[in-house]
Amino acid sequence: MRLIPKEEYLSADQRVKSAQHRFTGQVTVQRIIGGETDARVRASSVMFEPAARTYWHVHAGEQVLHVTDGRGWVQKWGEDAISIEPGDVVLFEPGEKHWHGAAEDESMTHIAITTAGERGELAIDWQEEVSELQYPHDR
Ligand code: MN
Repeated sequence: MRLIPKEEYLSADQRVKSAQHRFTGQVTVQRIIGGETDARVRASSVMFEPAARTYWHVHAGEQVLHVTDGRGWVQKWGEDAISIEPGDVVLFEPGEKHWHGAAEDESMTHIAITTAGERGELAIDWQEEVSELQYPHDR
C-alpha cells in the first residue's frame, strides 16, 4: 500500500495547461497518478473550458472517462458525437480513434484513466485537430 497525500499530486508541477497540437482551447490537466515513465496506469482530472477539446487521438491501451462536472462530447471516428454529463462513464478500446471535450457553452471535467498497451507503454498517438465542421455546435 502507498498513500499519496494530496499535497503531492496537487502540486503545481503535476498541473499543465493545454499543450500545442493536443488540445483546441483551454484545457487543464491535473495528474493524479502515473507520472513515472514506467507507470502502467495513469489517472488525471482534465478540465476543458467551453468548446475546448482534445485533438483526434489513439491510446495504446484502454481509456476510461468518468465525467465529474459540466457537459461535453465524446466521438469515435466514423460515428456521431455523443453528449456526456456528470456520472457518465465512457470506455475506449485500445486503438480506437476518438476525441473528448466540453460543450460549446459549458465547461466539462472528467477523470481519465489510461492503461498501458501490450508493449507496456502509455503512449498516445496524437492526430489531427477536431475541425469546426466536426465539432458539434448543437446541444
Ligand atoms: Mn482519449
